[in-house]
Amino acid sequence: MALDLVISGGTVVTAEKTFHADVGIRGEKIVELKAGLSGEKTIDAAGKLVLPGGVDSHCHIEQLSSMGVMTADDFYSATVSAAHGGTTTVIPFCAQHRGDVLAEVLADYHSRARAKAVIDYGFHLIIANPDERTLQRDLPAAIHSGVRSFKIFMTYERTRLTDEQILDVMAAARKNGALVMVHAENHGVISWLAGRMVNQGNTLPRYHAICHTRGAEAEAIERVVRFAELVDCPILIVHVSTPEGIEAIRQARARGLKVFGETCPQYLFLTAKDIDIGLQGALFCCSPPPRDEKAQEACWRGLKDGTLHVYSSDHAPYGMEGKLPKGEKTTFKEMANGVPGLELRLPLLFTYGKNRITLEEFVNLTSTRHAQTYGLYPRKGTIAVGSDADIAIWDPERKVTVETTHDRTGYTPYKGRVLTGWPITVLSRGEVIVADGKLAAERGRGQFLERAPSPALKPLGRDVPEIAQLKAWNTPLQL
Ligand SMILES: [Zn+2]
Repeated sequence: MALDLVISGGTVVTAEKTFHADVGIRGEKIVELKAGLSGEKTIDAAGKLVLPGGVDSHCHIEQLSSMGVMTADDFYSATVSAAHGGTTTVIPFCAQHRGDVLAEVLADYHSRARAKAVIDYGFHLIIANPDERTLQRDLPAAIHSGVRSFKIFMTYERTRLTDEQILDVMAAARKNGALVMVHAENHGVISWLAGRMVNQGNTLPRYHAICHTRGAEAEAIERVVRFAELVDCPILIVHVSTPEGIEAIRQARARGLKVFGETCPQYLFLTAKDIDIGLQGALFCCSPPPRDEKAQEACWRGLKDGTLHVYSSDHAPYGMEGKLPKGEKTTFKEMANGVPGLELRLPLLFTYGKNRITLEEFVNLTSTRHAQTYGLYPRKGTIAVGSDADIAIWDPERKVTVETTHDRTGYTPYKGRVLTGWPITVLSRGEVIVADGKLAAERGRGQFLERAPSPALKPLGRDVPEIAQLKAWNTPLQL
């Protein structure tokens, strides 16, 4: 049977190797990978890199924050923005707030995404209300419908869980085969410092970065690692920002635990100095905040040695109303937290990673590991026969001065930077969705991805002494 489309003459890069081959596509799939292919249509990729489309496993889309602020992006604008930056799969969050019924939250996100997404998407959950119904009924049902991961918060007044609730959620994850993603910061430290700062009249955005201390991140990571060890449940620490936090993960991994780490563009390419520009610094505020050059170096090292397993955007798109709801009277406690990053995540790492990581590592950190960790591999995250034809063709020499992006925040923290290397043509399931910088995708063409249990996330089967003792006494702990 003839091929529908051939990407010819390019250099294919996967997480394992770089090689010359034509990519033969029939329908939505890659069906051949060798030299000399011909098909009905051809895209000439001579001199270009042919990479798997990015998988962004941490982004907030059309989501209400815990403070009640809606993101500026909906599923259309966010996925359009992602596609322009070479990302072809997103896994955003369905956010349960206190009092919400989880099953209703999930249904609501499904209906909004279905109508608008231009690329494929999975979902994680945010669990803020781990009551009986959530833990016993809705959460297991969601997991078995292919939503196999959820985020919990150790800070933020309205979403944080108590230690007991964290253990409850981990037990449910362990029982049903899901991954727990953790926003790890010590709540007491942050709110205690923030209260004092505001009382002393220190309300500018730069004090946000003071209150979210390095120690608050490290303490929370160390604590939640102990919880995960008790329950024997794999966890992923999201948006790690400090050398101390990375070290805590490195030590947990050295003890053989399944503790994964993630970092984001804001921790590699911004510092606290970007926030220290008066009220406008609100635009650069996220939690945890960007740190300093030393922390940036630690993040690079963590990505290189595998302590940090994935590189995601944590795209949290708020416009001016979310950032400065009370205008000049806004204190750092009232700003919506988060920065946009879906579109520039890959081009930033491509540019600044040139002397630090290989092309294979670039693919691994932006695509393959996300697909493997979250149960989408090998359908997504690679270029191989049988995989979806989700492909970004990169011009490694293309210079782009960042002006605006396609999201709806109205700004980018990376304005003015000159990036070298850009995805010029992007395909999703065999269809060209971005051609030379122009959108060619129809609203709502993206499909929901039911995710499989990830083999990487099997529990260790290793007990802490107390759990082992219970087993020896024939009175095992019931999760
Ligand atoms: Zn977070």
